[in-house]
Parts: sequence; structure tokens; C-alpha cells
Amino acid sequence: MAKYIYECPVCNNLITLKVDLWSCPFQRTLIGQCDKCNNKVEIYEDDYKEWVKEKEVKQDYPEGDE
Ligand SMILES: [Zn+2]
Repeated sequence: MAKYIYECPVCNNLITLKVDLWSCPFQRTLIGQCDKCNNKVEIYEDDYKEWVKEKEVKQDYPEGDE
């Protein structure tokens, strides 16, 4: 299972997001909560992928064959 590491936009703490099971399967939403500042994070998976490209975060998210 893919892991979604994300940086809290408030305090820059690294947090782990998980797929919101209730979100649309064609545009999945990732959700999480920062354990430092309790900021709730919600981001579309597509937006998350863009963020990963920009940040070049090291993680085990599977690469596409693009
Ligand atoms: Zn935070």
C-alpha cells in the first residue's frame, strides 16, 4: 500500500495521509491530521502528486510509466 508523506502547511511537520475511503474513486481525497498543531489536511490525490514532484519527497509511492 502506498504511503503518502506530506508536509503540514502550517508548521512543516511531516505527516502521513491516508485515502479517504468515502471520496470519489476517480478523484480520491487524501486526509490526515498534523500531530503537532492539529491542523487537518485534505488534498486531492492529483494535487498531492504534483506536490510530490515539486518537493521531490522520498517515499514509496509507485511511479507511473509516463
Ligand atoms: Zn502542523
